[in-house]
Amino acid sequence: MSPSTDDAVARLAEQVATFLANHDPMTTDRIEFLRARFDAGLAWVHFPVGRGGLGLPRELQPMVDAMFEEAGAPDNHPRVNVIGLGMAAPTLLAYGTEEQLDTYLRPLWTGEQIWCQLFSEPNAGSDLAAVATRAVRDGEDWVVDGQKVWTSSAQNAHLAILLARTDPSLPKHAGLTYFICDMTDPGIEVRPLRQITGEAEFNEVFLTGVRIPDSNRIGAVGEGWKVANATLNNERIAIGGGPVPRESGMVGVAAAAWRSNPARRRPDLHDRLMQLWVESEAARLTGQRLRQKLMAGQPGPEGSAMKLTFARLAQQLSGLELEVLGAEGLRYDDWTLRRPVEVDFLGRGPGYRYLRAKGNSIEGGTSEILRNIVAERVLGLPPEPRVDREIPFKELAK
Ligand SMILES: Cc1cc2nc3c(=O)[nH]c(=O)nc-3n(C[C@H](O)[C@H](O)[C@H](O)COP(=O)(O)OP(=O)(O)OC[C@H]3O[C@@H](n4cnc5c(N)ncnc54)[C@H](O)[C@@H]3O)c2cc1C
Repeated sequence: MSPSTDDAVARLAEQVATFLANHDPMTTDRIEFLRARFDAGLAWVHFPVGRGGLGLPRELQPMVDAMFEEAGAPDNHPRVNVIGLGMAAPTLLAYGTEEQLDTYLRPLWTGEQIWCQLFSEPNAGSDLAAVATRAVRDGEDWVVDGQKVWTSSAQNAHLAILLARTDPSLPKHAGLTYFICDMTDPGIEVRPLRQITGEAEFNEVFLTGVRIPDSNRIGAVGEGWKVANATLNNERIAIGGGPVPRESGMVGVAAAAWRSNPARRRPDLHDRLMQLWVESEAARLTGQRLRQKLMAGQPGPEGSAMKLTFARLAQQLSGLELEVLGAEGLRYDDWTLRRPVEVDFLGRGPGYRYLRAKGNSIEGGTSEILRNIVAERVLGLPPEPRVDREIPFKELAK
């Protein structure tokens, strides 16, 4: 670290210590504590002053988080508001108005308002620019009608980021606009969708005559695709803030299963475990490098390769764990309709992990699409043909 960074670290550590001295984590109300932390700029230090940050390098945040954790301070349950923190906040910061930032950032960060993402539709998943949910201007409002699908956390969400079609006479990428949608609006119906695990993390969301004030538009009319891309870039690089310890996560679980089952230590399983262990370690170190690039403000398409690797390893390791555990691993028979607020890979059993990992190669961009991104943007291979780019949306075959 340079001397100037050393200075910044020392000053920041002092700021955190002063904050903790003035807000005793043991006696201050949890939400009041979190609000005060946001106001002090210690929520995400790389955000601007007045927006929960101090305009400092992103790499200083883990130190701040560690100091708060050590003091026993409450956190903002980051895994419950993944979409709000990971996707809505950076999109708001890049494209939101001052008024939107004033209104939304603080309750988003404290977790008082949970966000979900109303992007995917029955005919607009990988081809997100095919979104058909309509938003029609009516005075100061937009009136929205349509159907969204696979919406994680919609059952708990207060607000949503929403992509809608505002001009079907334009080609598909040009006629989209991006909004903030109030999930408590009476025109919104949320219906659970059950997954292969039996639980329902996600939902279908029906929007009927939902009125969204124009002041809730993010970015210009017709620029929704550009804004959505900012969200998606953040989605694919949301790989966690702090360093990941060696043998944590899925590889740790598979290795533990191997160590605790001497009777099943077959050479072929050993070979596979070793290979996946090495790949996991390579992925962990690559993730570390990517996080450093991200902290230096240069997120690149490599994030897609990381997400691709994570999904593949999660599926292979959860499969290996089942094989090592034998019949015991297959004991998964609890099909209670749960509505979890977060994915609990490590807190649940091996059968759950095996089934839930299937979704890893679909959620946040399918592996096939991520391979296309790596091929085109990292390796510079020729792009796949895109024949419908110039045709007005309303003339496309549906
Ligand atoms: C657990 C989970 C949570 C999710 N949460 C949300 C959420 O909160 N909000 C939200 O908006 N969405 C969410 N999604 C939706 C997710 O983003 C989409 O499922 C995903 O983008 C894929 O779209 P699709 O299901 O329509 O599949 P399709 O796009 O129909 O794809 C089907 C198959 O064809 C392949 N394919 C399609 N086009 C190409 C191509 N050009 N080249 C090569 N292969 C191609 C795909 O990769 C896939 O294998 C979630 C999904 C899951 C599984």
